[in-house]
Amino acid sequence: MMPFKVAIIGGGTSGWLSAAYLSKRLKLPNKQSIEITLIESSEIGTIGVGEATIPGIRQTFSELGLDEKLFMKSCSATFKQAIKFVDWNKPSEQDKSHYYYHNFSEPLKAGPEIYAPYWILNKENIGRDYAYSATIQSQLCDLNLAPKRLNDKDFEGPMHYAYHFDAGKLTKLLSSEGKSNGVKHLIGNVTETILAEDGAIEKLLTKEHGELVADLYIDCTGFSAKLIEKSLGSEFTSINDMLFVDRAVTAMVDYEDDEEIATTTVSTAQESGWIWDIALSSRRGTGYVYSSKYSSKERAEEVLRNYLGDKANVSVRHLDMRVGYREKQWVKNCVAIGLSGGFVEPLESTGIYLVEIALRTLINLFPWQNNHLANADQFNKLMTSQFLGAIDFIKLHYALSNRDDSPFWRDNVDENTFPETLKTFLARCENKVPNVFDLPVGPQCFNIFSYYSVLYGMNHLPDIDHMRDLYKFHEKANILPKEIDNILERAKKELPNHKSLIKKINANM
Ligand SMILES: Cc1cc2nc3c(=O)[nH]c(=O)nc-3n(C[C@H](O)[C@H](O)[C@H](O)COP(=O)(O)OP(=O)(O)OC[C@H]3O[C@@H](n4cnc5c(N)ncnc54)[C@H](O)[C@@H]3O)c2cc1C
Repeated sequence: MMPFKVAIIGGGTSGWLSAAYLSKRLKLPNKQSIEITLIESSEIGTIGVGEATIPGIRQTFSELGLDEKLFMKSCSATFKQAIKFVDWNKPSEQDKSHYYYHNFSEPLKAGPEIYAPYWILNKENIGRDYAYSATIQSQLCDLNLAPKRLNDKDFEGPMHYAYHFDAGKLTKLLSSEGKSNGVKHLIGNVTETILAEDGAIEKLLTKEHGELVADLYIDCTGFSAKLIEKSLGSEFTSINDMLFVDRAVTAMVDYEDDEEIATTTVSTAQESGWIWDIALSSRRGTGYVYSSKYSSKERAEEVLRNYLGDKANVSVRHLDMRVGYREKQWVKNCVAIGLSGGFVEPLESTGIYLVEIALRTLINLFPWQNNHLANADQFNKLMTSQFLGAIDFIKLHYALSNRDDSPFWRDNVDENTFPETLKTFLARCENKVPNVFDLPVGPQCFNIFSYYSVLYGMNHLPDIDHMRDLYKFHEKANILPKEIDNILERAKKELPNHKSLIKKINANM
């Protein structure tokens, strides 16, 4: 039997993750063998960012068979257990700034029930923010404690977590995994796509290696979308009218000797966007994501340097972002994975997640019999739903803001810029605590607890006083913060300082 041939075009995070994952995970029916070739250009660079992730990445790495500590050491990785959103609302009179956490661990329950409505009904008695009430994770982040201990099993720990890592180093690690699983690696440029009569790709022409022929072509060429758009004409839906940011300026900064390593991505709102601050073991990665409609490059750079303060004297890199998605990410015998399929701003670290979910979906729908049509249709529906979910959730962060200090923020709360699904979701949130049946679209990345983090972190509270009697576990809910304090005291004894743990992981190898 002829081997099933896969050609992956592009050697960024999505290309090498696809190569490593497919070569490891594909189960071969009828002993059919598979041949995977990855070709990447040495002339066209990778995007080189993408350093924060969400917890599903642990499953992906575990499925790849990675050793967690080895991965962490080789990729300058750290643990991430939340995103801390700073200044997304105006501060209250007594506070200098407003902030809230989107934690990865789910909140504890009030008896058998979800805690959020109890917090809303009793928050004056409880006297603390939602994110601090039913999980210890916000406090762990404040205290720079790690989500796990040195001897916990790989990819497991008492708290839910993801990673921050150096994107370039991860690509190298994934490339060596892929190559050790038999992936053939070519350095070269795809210059032309030859289509067959039915519109499918017949072969690719390369400058250095002649023809490349495969049964399935995976387009990982980044924003340029060389195959899926330029050759197959799959339409790109821009979402700039909902999510305005389309540029970034980035900088790497060194640590002071005594500086802690944060276990959160910090996202600080600015006049025309927001700044990410990601702590790796070797350095911090920062970037101002902003809208070209509201800010010049020069002003953006100034805003980033102001944020960096006494560390501002570093070189910066400017990037353009193509923000949107394709409804058809699988066309004929070509699947787009990564930036070529679409990109939603990195506020909730969805970029690599969308690559992971595309790969899981592809494995389930793999076209062994060249049965592309039926599989493509399902893949496209599922991926569109994932993108729409990410768009809704990210727009929610802007939609609830009470900032009115710049046109960027004022325009962001104009309902005409909301997706319809978010508009109706928010209408449902006025008089109830939403549940899984209220999620704007599905399947998607974010569960209802993530929505609570943003809704209640941004003080967008429903009027549910009239429903008080429907809730039967007020007593349990009221003692939960005390229980949380007790759990926190135990956790403080068990969980190591994040920086010390990272040092131990790096020293132990
Ligand atoms: C500002 C910014 C911040 C981000 N932050 C995050 C984050 O925190 N978390 C997250 O999960 N994601 C983030 N992302 C997204 C993340 O960076 C990407 O999802 C990820 O890097 C995948 O990129 P890629 O491999 O699809 O594309 P690229 O990295 O652009 O790779 C494209 C590859 O295609 C090759 N290529 C192109 N044309 C050809 C050709 N004709 N022939 C041969 N090879 C070719 C290039 O050489 C390169 O190897 C961010 C993105 C941006 C823009």
